[in-house]
Amino acid sequence: MPPSLYLVPTPIGNLEDITLRAIRVLKEADVVLAEDTRNTGMLLKHLQLSKPLQSHHAFNEHQTLNNLVERMKKGEKMALVSDAGTPAISDPGFLLVRACLQNGLEVECLPGPTAFVPALVKSGLPCDRFTFEGFLPQKKGRQTRLLALAEEERTMIFYESPHRLVKTLTQFAEFWGTDRLASVSRELTKLFEETVNGTLSEIITHFAGKTVKGEIVIVVGGKND
Ligand code: SAM
Repeated sequence: MPPSLYLVPTPIGNLEDITLRAIRVLKEADVVLAEDTRNTGMLLKHLQLSKPLQSHHAFNEHQTLNNLVERMKKGEKMALVSDAGTPAISDPGFLLVRACLQNGLEVECLPGPTAFVPALVKSGLPCDRFTFEGFLPQKKGRQTRLLALAEEERTMIFYESPHRLVKTLTQFAEFWGTDRLASVSRELTKLFEETVNGTLSEIITHFAGKTVKGEIVIVVGGKND
């Protein structure tokens, strides 16, 4: 059975990072489900594609699931994209994938850009085993998570916003020690891409007192690294 839903990764900065297959799938889809239709509209324009766009984001995905599944059952082919990177990775997608599978619909996820892979590889920390933690909870559950991760032996990957970077690194140092090896990748694939590797205290010193801008991935070594 041909796929009804395609998850299509889009560039995390550099517009050259889109695969030939991603372009073909976007071209052939009946509708493109987008986290932000304006943002995706600009990407489609850049690719010289004109497609019906439908909004699909964290605030409406619960309500639209049934309707989307019913339409796919009738034969509509849908492509899901997020603002950047791979849908369902710290972005909407999981609920729709699950609903499709529960309804016997085929799902295809194209390989492509995602921020955590280049950040992990550039960190110089072990890549053979790792845990993707995404965004840590802001309040409730944060301390429990940090305590639990103190025992983690695998490399850990976190997404974080630039204005919380130093505060989060300082908290990591409090829970896991200032000498823990880590890496911060900022603005991957973009003009001002920067990766800083070192101990948590060295990285905090690098960013402290600066106005940090752009998108951030933090990679932290396991407890025995
Ligand atoms: N779906 C995306 C993916 O596949 O990586 C992640 C979406 S999540 C809402 C956005 C977060 O991803 C940002 O806050 C940042 O932590 C990370 N991110 C996205 N693009 C990035 C980039 N160019 N450089 C560094 N981090 C990035």
